[in-house]
Amino acid sequence: MTQLTGQPILVLPEGAQRLLGRDAQRSNIAVAKAIANAIRSTLGPKGMDKMLVDDLGDVVITNDGAAILNEMSVEHPAGKMMVEVARTQDEEVGDGTTTAVVIAGELLKNAEDLLEKKIHPSIVIRGYDMAAAKCLEALEEKAEKVEFSDDKLLRQMAFVAMTGKGSGRAGGHFSEIAVKAVKQVADHADGKVSIDSDYIKLEKKQGGDLVDTSLISGVVIDKERVHPGMPKLTKNARIALLDSALEVKSTETDSAIQITSPDQLQAFLAQEENMLKEMVNEVVNSGANVFFCQKGIDDMAQHFLAKAGVVAVRRVKKSDMEKLARATGANVVTNIHDLSKDDLGKAGVVEERKIAGEDMIFVEECKDPKAVTILVRGGTEHVVDEAERALVDAIGVVSSALEDEKYVIGGGCIEVELALDLQDYAKTVGGREQLAISAFANALEVIPRTLAESAGMDSIDTLVELRAKHEKGKRDLGVDVMAAKTAGMSGLHVFEPAKIKKQAITSASEVAEMILRIDDIIASSGSGKAAPEMPPGGMGGMGGMPGMM
Ligand code: ADP
Ligand code: MG
Repeated sequence: MTQLTGQPILVLPEGAQRLLGRDAQRSNIAVAKAIANAIRSTLGPKGMDKMLVDDLGDVVITNDGAAILNEMSVEHPAGKMMVEVARTQDEEVGDGTTTAVVIAGELLKNAEDLLEKKIHPSIVIRGYDMAAAKCLEALEEKAEKVEFSDDKLLRQMAFVAMTGKGSGRAGGHFSEIAVKAVKQVADHADGKVSIDSDYIKLEKKQGGDLVDTSLISGVVIDKERVHPGMPKLTKNARIALLDSALEVKSTETDSAIQITSPDQLQAFLAQEENMLKEMVNEVVNSGANVFFCQKGIDDMAQHFLAKAGVVAVRRVKKSDMEKLARATGANVVTNIHDLSKDDLGKAGVVEERKIAGEDMIFVEECKDPKAVTILVRGGTEHVVDEAERALVDAIGVVSSALEDEKYVIGGGCIEVELALDLQDYAKTVGGREQLAISAFANALEVIPRTLAESAGMDSIDTLVELRAKHEKGKRDLGVDVMAAKTAGMSGLHVFEPAKIKKQAITSASEVAEMILRIDDIIASSGSGKAAPEMPPGGMGGMGGMPGMM
């Protein structure tokens, strides 16, 4: 036996690697900074795109921070935390992902300088925490009210969210669609607006032009009629929804039916036919002329439905059934014998149309539908995909603006304003925390700096000018990236929902603080190779990405 001294003994598995103290922090910060650096150049309307190739050779071209991080297989744990920031931002507000990650990277970079100066991480963390809280307070003060009826402002915000995202000249058209779609599905309760963007269905169909993208007040289903004898067009549709099969159930257990004579077989088949006929009669008698079924529809039943002039669609996705219910006001029925007139939904038109060579069912002209569809069109697959991402951002922005009812001025304005406030605040705090708060303020300025860089401007000169003029009260001066100069952002309509900035600052500071709190990394020997969710090989090499840019 070895002698046990007073030393605690940490037993590590064989081959495990361990980094301690400053080494651990250095390693984590380096990775986080590398991730931030990798997507930094995509910020803003003049941001560059990234081309990502996965191990199957599929190509994604995008400017969207969340999409980029999603496609990169980041293996380092601190890197994963950064990816998480982007994901949270995307889920919570749908935009501002690059902003959040870039600020987080900058917070860590500035923290590193403080650590070099022998300031303890816990002081940096405390300072950052105070700064973040102060920042949110200041944001609340500086933000202005968004009125539900202010379509112009909402469209401007949608437009800003999409600029540089490949929507190009369709930007105006897209912002109009995004605002209409969000307002259409918005729920109002107790003077509050809530939006479930799941009820805005984005249906992509390659072909046509971006400006052919259209908003359908109803649902588009990527299916066709089950029977060519059914009408292609039904006006004044009365719609039945069934989430079980329109079939005679086969026996669950293995049972054999003894048929000894042709008569018996005849009777047996006739009975099955009768049952199906009865089921179809339930649909017809309810008054329905359109029938959506989540499961299968028996061939015989299809024939009866066609004969009765009812349009039927089978194997409709559950999520589409929910949207159909919301859009048409129908109830989804499980037992066909329970179907009644009151369960039916309504639509002005149900029509099967050929879009880019494929049949789709349009359920449209619904009255005040609480679910809508955007049919996204574009020349190539990549264009359609990027257009979809642009629309998702726009929908997120309009939803955030309506729910939170606040907006701020973008183009680096709000960040400069917040940084100035924080510098003032830092002076009142004093002590070593003051340095951390001041570092936090400087980190926010990475946004105007990066915007200036993307426009080919001198980032330091620009920042100095912005600071000086903001201090003199020019509160809407920002970076006009298109003209490569500083300019009033209100005139250029660069507005953004306050919620995007709140969320970005919150999650950036949280992840920075979390990474700073770590002073010990213990990695088991297999962790580099066998992260289960990662495809073998592929882009996994990006785990150690610093050299990537
Ligand atoms: P994120 O993923 O963070 O939303 P974006 O690439 O969408 O990143 O860039 C957003 C930033 O670009 C915001 O700071 C926004 O204010 C700024 N921005 C957008 N449009 C303009 C514009 N026309 N002029 C200046 N800045 C703009
Ligand atoms: Mg954006």
